[in-house]
Order: sequence, then C-alpha cells, then structure tokens
Amino acid sequence: MQLRYNFRLYPSPGQRQSLARAFGCARTVFNDGLRLRQEARENGLPYVSDGELSKRIITEAKKTPQRAWLGEVSAVVLQQALTDLNTAYRNFFASLSGKRKGPKAAAPRFRSRKDNRQAIRFTKNARFAVTAGGKLRLPKIGDVSVRWSRTLPSEPSSVTVIKDAAGRYFASFVVETSGEPLPEAGGEVGIDLGLTHFAVLSDGSKVDNPRFLRRAERRLRKAQQALSRKAKGSNNRTKAVVKVARAHAKVADTRRDWAHKLSTQVIRDSQAVYVENLCVSGLGRTRLAKSVHDAGWSQFTAMLEYKARRYGRYFGKIDRWFPSSKLCSACGTIATSMPLNVRSWTCPCGEVHDRDVNAAINILAAGRAERLNDCGARVRPGPVPAPRSEAVTHPKPHAQQTGISVL
Ligand SMILES: [Zn+2]
Repeated sequence: MQLRYNFRLYPSPGQRQSLARAFGCARTVFNDGLRLRQEARENGLPYVSDGELSKRIITEAKKTPQRAWLGEVSAVVLQQALTDLNTAYRNFFASLSGKRKGPKAAAPRFRSRKDNRQAIRFTKNARFAVTAGGKLRLPKIGDVSVRWSRTLPSEPSSVTVIKDAAGRYFASFVVETSGEPLPEAGGEVGIDLGLTHFAVLSDGSKVDNPRFLRRAERRLRKAQQALSRKAKGSNNRTKAVVKVARAHAKVADTRRDWAHKLSTQVIRDSQAVYVENLCVSGLGRTRLAKSVHDAGWSQFTAMLEYKARRYGRYFGKIDRWFPSSKLCSACGTIATSMPLNVRSWTCPCGEVHDRDVNAAINILAAGRAERLNDCGARVRPGPVPAPRSEAVTHPKPHAQQTGISVL
C-alpha cells in the first residue's frame, strides 16, 4: 500500500523565491492546458489528447517569448501539473458517466496564486534526492533543510512540495510499504461516533472530544473576529489573514495528532473494528453542521481503515440505515422513536440501555454478521486510498510511536 509521509521544510530566502517561481510555472501550465481544452470544446473541436496537450503547452510554448521562462523550472514539475489536469478531467468524465462512485467530481477549475495551497510534484525521473547531509535536493531549487521527524521505510516514488496558507512549507513523500501485521488481538469492537462523545466503544468506554481542541478552536474564533474588524485592503488585514490561517493550521494539526493516537490505539487493541457508515456530507447541510465537521469523524474512520489494512486488522462499515440506536441489543426489539436527547432507555424486556453503548454493541453485532456473510463472497478487499497525510506534521516524540495509551 502507498503511504504519505509529511515533513516540514525550511527553505532559504533564495529557495523560497525559486519555489514561488516553480509554483507559478506549474499553475501557468495547468491553466494554459485547461484553457486550451475549454477553447477546443467551445469551437466544437475534439478533446485535446494528453500527449498533444503536453507538446503544445510545454514543449512548443517554451520556444515562444511569452512562455520562455517555463524553462527555468524542472520539466517534471510542469509535466506533473498537466498530469493533475488530466486526472481532474478523467475524474470529471467518470463522474458524469456514473463510473465513479461517491460525491460528484466537478469540472477542473483554474488555479490562482491566491489559492490556500500551492504545490508542485517531483517524480523519480526528476532525480530529487536526500543528500548525505540530510537535505532534500530538488532540481533547480537547491538543497532544502528538512526536519526529519521519522525515518522513511523505503525509497519514495515522488515528493510533493507544499506551501500552505500559513506560509509553511512541507514535503510530502509517497512511499510504497508492505503491511506490518501486529500480533493478533483477541477482541472485536463496534464504535458509535456521536456528538455527546466523540466515540463510544462496544466495551462501554467513551472518548470525549478533547479539551485542548476546544481551546485551539476558541483561539481560532478570536482570530477570525479580529480579522472581521480590519479594514479591507489594509496592512493590518493582511497580517490578520495570516493569523487566522495559522490558527486554522493549529486546530487541524492538533486534531489530526489526536485522531492518529486514538485510531492507532483502537486498531492495536482489536482484531476487527466496525463503524457506522455515516453520511457526513449529508449531515453537514443540517443544523448540526458545525459540530459534525469539527468532530472530524471522516478523518478518523479513514485512519482506522488504512491502519487496519496496514496492521493486518479487519475494518468494516455498517450500512447507515441500520437502526443502531433504536435496536435493543438484548432482545432485538426496535423502539418506535429515539430522540437525540434520550441518553438512556429501558426496553420492554427489562434491559436498561446507555444509548451510545447500546448502539456500539449493535454495530459490533451487525459488523460481525456482515463479515461472516462476506467471507465467502469476497475474494479480496477493495483498494484503500493513500491517505493525504499519514505522518503528523507537528510531531511530538510520543506521537511518533504506534500504540500509546490515550484512552
Ligand atoms: Zn429488549
């Protein structure tokens, strides 16, 4: 499976300039390619093939005075920008024809220098390298300082250099790894993800939303309020924008670190993990929107899924229409209604239920049943997408190891 490893980069002022140029060139190539295909379409001409696009937007454009400066950056960076465009088109077409499942992919859009995230990618043929002195050598950029927070398990196949809205630089390596199965764990676990608690496990343990996350969010809110008071176009406003971006980054980093620890713990302790397949984007449009997104359930379940694959565990999602809250886990009776404010209830059979623990037990039972059904039918599990960021970006020593007790 493919994993991403992220590290913080510290480019020198000169390297920052070279990176800015490379971001700009990649953006230009992407936008030129998009414009060419759009114009072809408007003029009733056939779709411009990938090869033709590369020839016209890179090779031939470099010979013109208007685009001669494209020669100043690595050709691989330009080629990879077009690869991104081609992928965006393919996803869009596959989504239109219904071949691609999940949320609809939108048509490719022009990139802007004001985008929150600027990125370029170097593949193996760009000959990026880690020097003997531990710097990242990028063609036509130089040897950039890296904070190596952990070791790469094998040689990376590509590196993406990212500048985020807070002005920080990162290198994101894609590395191919085989699984690292952990010793068998005895139990299996069902997890109910909720608003009152972040997660409730079928063994009865409850995981609260961490308080430090609330604090970081409060600071973010304050930064946002400060920003809204600044006059448009003023210097102070520009400074406030960076402050908000930094606070955002802090919240996201803190939440990810926490989710990493929790998901590792869960995967370590159980041989099989079942969660409810929540339709988070659907819930996101309701009144619960903010808390849903804040809770970061989808990030957490994505971590569970790839860690299960990596460490030799089973991961199962339960149909989201399954009545996990209303079903009595003792006798199987389904209660007629179960408003959100009901925290515990008594079934006619006499069993007293904690709402969330009961739901988690039901999820575990349904997951087990589905898994047994599946065993015969399924030859091999489907592919797990490489997570966007496997490694923490603000590593603390204890966050690096797997399996630290946090519960
Ligand atoms: Zn009952």
